[in-house]
Amino acid sequence: MDVLKKVPVREQDPKVRATNFEEVCLGYNQKEAMEEASRCLNCKNARCVKGCPVAIDIPAFVEKVKTGEFEAAAKVIARSSALPAVCGRVCPQESQCEGRCIRGIKGEPVSIGKLERFVADWSRENGFVPDRPEKTNGKKVAVIGSGPAGLTCAGDLAKLGYEVTIFEALHEPGGVLLYGIPEFRLPKEGVVMPEIENVKKLGVKIETNVIIGKSVTIDELLDEEGFDAVFIGSGAGLPMFMGIPGENANGVFSANEYLTRSNLMKAFRDDYDTPIAAGKKVAVVGGGNVAMDAARTALRLGADVHIVYRRSEAELPARVEEVHHAREEGIIFDLLTNPTEILVDDNGWVKGMRCIRMELGEPDASGRRRPVPIEGSEFVIDVDTVIMSLGTSPNPLISSTNKGLKVNRRKCIVAEGMTGKTSKKGVYAGGDAVTGAATVILAMEAGRAGARGIDKYLTDTNEK
Ligand SMILES: Cc1cc2nc3c(=O)[nH]c(=O)nc-3n(C[C@H](O)[C@H](O)[C@H](O)COP(=O)(O)OP(=O)(O)OC[C@H]3O[C@@H](n4cnc5c(N)ncnc54)[C@H](O)[C@@H]3O)c2cc1C
Ligand code: SF4
Repeated sequence: MDVLKKVPVREQDPKVRATNFEEVCLGYNQKEAMEEASRCLNCKNARCVKGCPVAIDIPAFVEKVKTGEFEAAAKVIARSSALPAVCGRVCPQESQCEGRCIRGIKGEPVSIGKLERFVADWSRENGFVPDRPEKTNGKKVAVIGSGPAGLTCAGDLAKLGYEVTIFEALHEPGGVLLYGIPEFRLPKEGVVMPEIENVKKLGVKIETNVIIGKSVTIDELLDEEGFDAVFIGSGAGLPMFMGIPGENANGVFSANEYLTRSNLMKAFRDDYDTPIAAGKKVAVVGGGNVAMDAARTALRLGADVHIVYRRSEAELPARVEEVHHAREEGIIFDLLTNPTEILVDDNGWVKGMRCIRMELGEPDASGRRRPVPIEGSEFVIDVDTVIMSLGTSPNPLISSTNKGLKVNRRKCIVAEGMTGKTSKKGVYAGGDAVTGAATVILAMEAGRAGARGIDKYLTDTNEK
């Protein structure tokens, strides 16, 4: 064994997986996990932990994997994370824990994400269930949204003895984990649902099909429904568009709609009736994780797929692993290219997309080099479907139906980072609803902060 290298992880063959929706990465088996764990130096002042937003005791759980004590490893992780099988699959470990791992200085870092995934999968397969609190403290908290922020906040509060109800607008809980990230990266029935069940086993109730701001308001929850505090984890689900001519044509989707049809409404399965314009030649505009997911979904539905991105390879915001997988599967990258118009046929359907070549100028406010159009370089791509993946912002429904809840100019709720406290008494918030579109683990960290903030608020109120 070469200690400088990660134990390789098994994956589905790119040619095979490009035609199915089964999980790409197959994970470690026990022997591989123990071998990989033995690469960890069990550092005293572990840099990896500092890179983890929820501060999992990484050396402690990896040590337990090394010695084959998998339940003990699961218990270490459960102290900090309610969604380890999810995080082990979708967290950007390369820029967090693994990005700081001491092993990474001379060789490859310890494969912390894959080990976390192994432990979580082992726990699920072996029936490990987190401990439920013995009794409740009689206080009721409402959580809006069942994504990673809401689930984490609810789980932490339940462990402290609160009676927690999550209100979810959709008919299934999970937020982006369910409707956004595709099955081939994050299996729903096998991985997401069991982790949500674990949160429910802590005593958390989940009411679906309840839209806060329409079915009931936050003021009503606090004044009439007997809740002592509210946490808003409603995410950032409102898609952005470019504002170019032709964007209203049939065959133009937001990535959110496209992925929701496929993931939540199961359009990819023959036994479901959900319509989806699969397209023969699809352009996905954007370069983030969401763009990669939309592109790889369209590919699996049978299309030739181009990613159209206005900057270069180095600026692609998606995880390196996602770009690598997309390329392996046959997605074509049209970099330094920007759409200027969607061309529409007489029946109102997309028949092509006019684009312009770009070059990189000076760095802009984001620190990345600004893309500048090259005059006279316009050309047409022959496509019948366009998926816009340009980012999302929070839906203004909650803020517009709540007097006294401050939002910033991007319509994000203003909340304190350490506690989630908002401008409205008894109301806390976190996750994408506060930061704008970010990551699962940052939403979980914000859920934790919200739980701490609410616990302190209700303890202080009780003592007065
Ligand atoms: C396609 C895609 C791929 C991604 N890939 C990754 C990845 O690989 N790694 C990563 O770390 N991050 C990824 N992300 C980002 C990550 O999923 C989000 O940052 C994270 O889910 C945010 O969590 P949240 O709990 O704040 O919100 P969400 O997950 O958006 O959950 C919010 C929930 O609130 C509900 N809700 C909204 N309004 C109301 C209302 N008025 N009443 C009741 N309920 C309401 C919504 O229906 C939703 O279920 C991806 C995002 C997308 C869209
Ligand atoms: S920094 Fe790397 S080697 Fe050190 S404890 Fe963390 S995972 Fe192990």
